[in-house]
Amino acid sequence: MIEIAIVGAGMAGLTCAQQLHQAGYDVVVFDKSRGVGGRMATRRAQGTWADHGLRYFEDSPEGDLTALLSLLRDRGLIHPWTDHVQELGPDGQLRPSRDRHPRYVAALGINSVAKFLATGLTLHREHRVSAIAPTPAGQWHLTFAPPTPDVQAPDPVLAKILVLAIPAAQALDLLAPVPQIPGESLAALEAVTFDPCMTVMAGYRPHPTLENLDWQAIALPQDPLLSWISLESSKRSLPAAPVLVLHSSPSFAAENFDAPNLTEAAHALLQRAASVLQISYWQQPDWLQVHRWRYAIPQQSHHDRALAATQPAPWICGGDWCGGEGLSSAYRSGFAMAHQVNQWLEGRPLKGEQAWMDLVSEKL
Ligand SMILES: Cc1cc2nc3c(=O)[nH]c(=O)nc-3n(C[C@H](O)[C@H](O)[C@H](O)COP(=O)(O)OP(=O)(O)OC[C@H]3O[C@@H](n4cnc5c(N)ncnc54)[C@H](O)[C@@H]3O)c2cc1C
Repeated sequence: MIEIAIVGAGMAGLTCAQQLHQAGYDVVVFDKSRGVGGRMATRRAQGTWADHGLRYFEDSPEGDLTALLSLLRDRGLIHPWTDHVQELGPDGQLRPSRDRHPRYVAALGINSVAKFLATGLTLHREHRVSAIAPTPAGQWHLTFAPPTPDVQAPDPVLAKILVLAIPAAQALDLLAPVPQIPGESLAALEAVTFDPCMTVMAGYRPHPTLENLDWQAIALPQDPLLSWISLESSKRSLPAAPVLVLHSSPSFAAENFDAPNLTEAAHALLQRAASVLQISYWQQPDWLQVHRWRYAIPQQSHHDRALAATQPAPWICGGDWCGGEGLSSAYRSGFAMAHQVNQWLEGRPLKGEQAWMDLVSEKL
């Protein structure tokens, strides 16, 4: 039997896992995807990298990520990208954003940071938890779905404590069928909402109109189609060729999420980007990839940093949707979940942010 099963290897799950693992508990992390990091996601495409989830690292106004970002910089895992994001105004004009704080990126893509945060953990990829059930002895029985239809499902496991570090709606899917879960917990999960996002990654052959590009990113807070355009290749020191990453607006993603032809939707976004950038060649990518995020950014968050109960057996859930809406909320929620789990167990000293300093970087 596992002492602590953590479902979800995003920022919240990894933060929680490192605290408890380094305190000496028996921790096992399960994630449904082939990698780690959740929305700290990077695609390897055509010899380069494109961050198709989290755009960059930045500190929160409260300084939640100051220590972590400073450590990642010292380890050479991230470097400053830009403090100069432009903004498309309602008049269609680009102007410098008033928000001039530093943004950091990773040479090998944002996901390389998640791999570092996962160092030393026992982590099972391609393990989608499909059902949870309490046992008569007060443990959790976790069942997994087969990663692909032609492969057998991983064996079920038993755990003393269950941590769900996943978006609220996905936690609700697992918790709602368990009759003993308190009704107010389910209501709190139901109240959380997320905005979806469609991400387009597009690579280009060198072209005279794409030479000497001197911008990094554009925020489009009021655009009906796009919310973000980044010159992804400006994150890399030796960009082979220009790469764009586009994030759709929430309304565009909602309308087109289940569209039968995603390429058509992607081209609508490229067309809009080309019009904003006033270079029609951006409509002619050499390669194109699309990713859909059903749960991209919390819209309506839970007020607290985690949601927990001991009925029918101890469980806790959290993530960016707890007490905020971005990476720093996921980070704080990870610590809060670890603190609660530690209280249920032996109340050992937790390392806090020192845990990251003690990680020995593995080959990425
Ligand atoms: C396009 C986009 C842009 C963003 N830009 C920014 C930004 O600029 N600034 C910012 O602060 N934040 C941004 N965010 C949000 C930020 O990425 C998230 O807040 C943060 O990464 C969430 O971490 P998390 O651990 O809460 O959840 P996640 O990263 O979603 O991790 C949850 C993990 O759980 C796994 N999982 C889910 N269900 C199961 C299951 N049943 N079994 C097993 N595993 C499961 C998933 O595979 C995933 O790995 C952006 C997100 C997106 C998508």
